Amino acid sequence: MEFSVLADSYEKLEATRGRLEMMAILSELFKKAKPDEIDRIIYLSQGVVAPPFEGIEVGLGEKLVEEAISVATGYSKRRVEEVYRKTGDLGNTAEELLSSKQQMSLFSQPLSVQKVFDNFMKLAKTGGAGSQESKIKGLVELLNNSTPKEARYITRFPVGKLRLGVGDPTILDALSAYKAGDKSLREELERAYNLCSDLGLVARTLFVDGIEAIRKFRIKVFNPVRPALAERLPSAEEIIEKIGTCAVERKYDGLRLQLHKQNEKVEIFSRRLERMTPMFPEIVAGVRKQVGAKEAILEGEALAYNETGGEYYPFQLTMQRKRKYGVKEKAEEYPLKLFAFDVLYADGEDYTQRPYHERRKRLEKLIGTGSVIKLSDMIVTGNPKKLEEFFEESIEKGMEGIIAKDLNAEYVAGARKFAWIKLKRSYKGELADRVDLVVIGYFLGKGAREKFKFGGLLCAVYDEKEDMFKSIAKIGSGFSEEQMKQFEEMLGKIKVDHKLARVDSEIKPNFWVDLKYVVAVAADEITRSPTHTAGKGKDESGYALRFPRMMELREDKSPEEATTVQEIIEMYKMQKRIQLEEV
Ligand code: ATP
Repeated sequence: MEFSVLADSYEKLEATRGRLEMMAILSELFKKAKPDEIDRIIYLSQGVVAPPFEGIEVGLGEKLVEEAISVATGYSKRRVEEVYRKTGDLGNTAEELLSSKQQMSLFSQPLSVQKVFDNFMKLAKTGGAGSQESKIKGLVELLNNSTPKEARYITRFPVGKLRLGVGDPTILDALSAYKAGDKSLREELERAYNLCSDLGLVARTLFVDGIEAIRKFRIKVFNPVRPALAERLPSAEEIIEKIGTCAVERKYDGLRLQLHKQNEKVEIFSRRLERMTPMFPEIVAGVRKQVGAKEAILEGEALAYNETGGEYYPFQLTMQRKRKYGVKEKAEEYPLKLFAFDVLYADGEDYTQRPYHERRKRLEKLIGTGSVIKLSDMIVTGNPKKLEEFFEESIEKGMEGIIAKDLNAEYVAGARKFAWIKLKRSYKGELADRVDLVVIGYFLGKGAREKFKFGGLLCAVYDEKEDMFKSIAKIGSGFSEEQMKQFEEMLGKIKVDHKLARVDSEIKPNFWVDLKYVVAVAADEITRSPTHTAGKGKDESGYALRFPRMMELREDKSPEEATTVQEIIEMYKMQKRIQLEEV
């Protein structure tokens, strides 16, 4: 495929304000793709050169890209900077400057998707001495052969500003529409995606081997599996009522890790499926020593644990282990333990479709003696009183609560199901659980806050069915001065001049932003609201948070992993039941 076809689609995507239209543009694009290039088309459209878990980044600084534009167009660096200041966008800068040099590109070959992809991949893999020059050269080569419109996207890509706003569910829908003409294959495609976290691979499999191969898609070591998530219920009684006799495990407050092993090779992925192997050397060693299988995928919660005192350290200390530098020192200061709670795969057997009780048995056999990996503490009970006692004991030990697990349920990758139910301590007059909201816009400061170009956030929850982000709260409190400065800076970088196609909000902030940040928010309760769009039906009001307060940035969550509309509705129902009991 010629790159111009991709650039035309990107231009259309940029201009759309609706998600359905986005899907249509993508499926039209897919129809023009050959099987051996569809994965590259998907990666490029996601702004990456490989599935995000591989962590391969093109990562060129703006200065280098400015230099490449200068070399390719023949304009001085000062002129490039001037135009950049005026347009505020490197893509538009390259486009404008290249337009006035149009005659230069008359003799050049049309760029292919393959060529663009290969050059970006080369840029990503170039490191070490002299790498800056070769990176600039690689980009200049592309710009020398590109039309002004192509240059717009070629320069935005390496600085991470492609900003097409297409989410994974939209790509899955578009793949289904390409193959079946409608969304009917979405669920099957999504299952494969949940097992491998690689949209390029899913698309290639569909294009090369058809839907049958998608149906037979299997888990693979070193492809992270999208994690199973827990529902909420307000009491031990309701949990037992819902799933009967169940396993009850402590809810450790640490980092969720997925461990992949093949012989001596070990990889560790975070809840967001980022590769974290270099950060946790003691866990890598623990897996090699204690996991008794040639190949395995297991999950657990890692946390700093004081062996002498037998106490769990608070979450903040565990979080200090998420670092690139000083790994060894911190690992000595706060070594981690991993509390293993599930096995997804072992020696050729896919366990995701086996019931919990079988998986637990396998897990118990899998973990050998050693001091790093321990099994999660667990009891099996059908008695709400016993469950309650275990819960109280967990809180006393400094944990968040418990997770009850349906003994007969499969491991449902990438979904929040009642197979797992979390119970946390609830405080009077407060929502029992914090919610994780996506920042969709922000307001300027007023009064004392005028000195910051930031006064508060407009936040949304995720509507999984529609793949849309729906407003639920304006948040003006809970920010320290430092945080306000931080938000001013962070959000200033991702401002956009219109509401994105996947955002649904009747409230207009001073600025809309790209979907990037997720914040944990506490509130007093959930109320019905005529102004917010979360859960809003034709004749029904939406939902809002009463007295929302910013708690922290959740860097471990992507926008699609924020609290969903469905969860808000469930929490609202739970809250009503508790209020009735209290009367
Ligand atoms: P939270 O903020 O409550 O952790 P979350 O959205 O990050 O919510 P949930 O799916 O709601 O994640 O809660 C499950 C999380 O609890 C898991 O992602 C995992 O990190 C953690 N966890 C701690 N102990 C266990 C356990 N024994 N079994 C499963 N998950 C556990």
